[in-house]
Amino acid sequence: AAAATPPGARTVRAARGAERTAKSWGAEAAKRMLMNNLDPEVAEHPEDLVVYGGTGKAARSWEAYDAIVRTLDELEPDETLLVQSGKPVGVFRTHEWAPRVLIANSNLVGDWATWPEFRRLEELGLTMYGQMTAGSWIYIGTQGILQGTYETFAAVARSLDRASLAGTLTLTGGCGGMGGAQPLAVTMNDGAVLVVDVDESRLTRRVEHGYLDEYTADLDAAVARVVAAKAAGEALSVGVVGNAAEVFPELLRRGTPIDIVTDQTSAHDPLAYLPVGVAFEDWKAAASADPEGFTVRARESMAAHVAAMVGFQDAGAAVFDYGNSIRREAELGGFDRAFAFPGFVPAYIRPLFAEGKGPFRWVALSGDPEDIAKTDRAVAELFPEDAALHRWLDKAARQVHFEGLPARICWLGYQERHLAGLKFNEMVASGELSGPIVIGRDHLDSGSVASPYRETEAMADGSDAIADWPLLNALLNTASGASWVSLHHGGGVGIGRSIHAGQVTVADGTALAAEKIARVLTNDPGTGVMRHVDAGYERAKEVARERGLKVPML
Ligand code: NAD
Repeated sequence: AAAATPPGARTVRAARGAERTAKSWGAEAAKRMLMNNLDPEVAEHPEDLVVYGGTGKAARSWEAYDAIVRTLDELEPDETLLVQSGKPVGVFRTHEWAPRVLIANSNLVGDWATWPEFRRLEELGLTMYGQMTAGSWIYIGTQGILQGTYETFAAVARSLDRASLAGTLTLTGGCGGMGGAQPLAVTMNDGAVLVVDVDESRLTRRVEHGYLDEYTADLDAAVARVVAAKAAGEALSVGVVGNAAEVFPELLRRGTPIDIVTDQTSAHDPLAYLPVGVAFEDWKAAASADPEGFTVRARESMAAHVAAMVGFQDAGAAVFDYGNSIRREAELGGFDRAFAFPGFVPAYIRPLFAEGKGPFRWVALSGDPEDIAKTDRAVAELFPEDAALHRWLDKAARQVHFEGLPARICWLGYQERHLAGLKFNEMVASGELSGPIVIGRDHLDSGSVASPYRETEAMADGSDAIADWPLLNALLNTASGASWVSLHHGGGVGIGRSIHAGQVTVADGTALAAEKIARVLTNDPGTGVMRHVDAGYERAKEVARERGLKVPML
């Protein structure tokens, strides 16, 4: 409703094409990517500057947004803009190799790093929750997590000794910005999936964007559809409107034949998880009227939700946490077996991290989908032996609907990413592509994050909570020539539970860009290999030796 629109809110869409209004492509790219994060096709709640992940924002306020855009347009090619939790706070003279933007979001000193203190400071207008790629301007819509989710479900199939998920039924919760990738990731693996979300508008959106086949408010009808699909070995995704804390226990009680269970509700923030007994329409008002009381209720519901997940595991299902800290919240809600099932990183992803592999992504600033088709072909040609990569690129080209600027996600590792980046830069220089390419990644990467309930859960040497690694990653990317670098706290799993860094580098076709790309896209995944060598992973040691990474004490 118009009356509810916050002051200053407007519809944002990034400019397309090869003409820029900023004085460098570094500044122009940062501006377009900030705008793209807030494009209504991309952001979950753009009117509130919320991009994804509960309340992950791109700028602190609409005033701050305007000031960032204005400053980026005026920024000289040898200046750097500093952004403090979504607000532009200073411009400094640096040099052409330096990032055009340096961003620090949501950071708090250890003893103060709690949600209540964060909210108190946010209320005072002093900070903002940046999630991972929301406040660092490299969110690319639901596709951003799709390949990771697709590969995770492929690994689940292998762990069940199956060639695919055909003939299995997956149950999950949360169909928001990231969770919305789950239904398509399961059907890309040929499985059947039921996804529960309290917000019907999120299910509608996923159907519109091709991530979900269908949805209903009728649980019996939804179950009948997915159980039939499982029996027929068909790929089908069905959404059901409901509260996961009620639906999961109900399906367990009924003995529904579910093989795989996970969840991606926004459990990392108890105010972004709807407790049983609070009506959907009353959610925001109830959370702001009594955040502490709401938190207690949300955690009680998460305890019931996770107890059902453990119940499915006891009954023989494959169950894993999908990176939203729901186990810890359920434990705080009084359920003491919450950690009975593993997180997805130690269960399925860590071997990839040991090779520096992670969610590498790129965006065509031209706005032309044909540019992404050309880069897809270039990447396939660069890595002719990588069957999994080819399978992904084929499926993505056919099944992924672009949200905002055309983009591609593709997990590549150490000594691979820079080859792709340099190739893209050549294609920009030769005119084969119709505009520059922005190259970045999620903060969920091999060397850029400390997060003991997610990326660094159960490290071999017990170094889960050591947060020097993401700081070193950010410093190195700054020193290597990235176009913008960010250092955040609290993404994915919530305040107090993670520290992580991001980098984005622009391929504008110049020789200088090639120099920067060669360094950043080698060094950035290199820190992932280094981190896993240090923790004692044999695969990381092999990769370091084979691919020439210098680790003084290896
Ligand atoms: P989002 O806020 O866009 O979506 C969350 C969804 O959960 C919403 O649609 C909401 O309606 C729904 N929800 C809330 N309470 C519910 C309940 N009780 N029952 C059913 N549905 C409920 O968030 P997102 O971007 O989709 O992220 C989801 C979670 O995953 C977050 O905690 C985020 O930090 C985490 N995350 C994980 C990864 C990963 O790689 N595994 C990556 C990014 C984010």
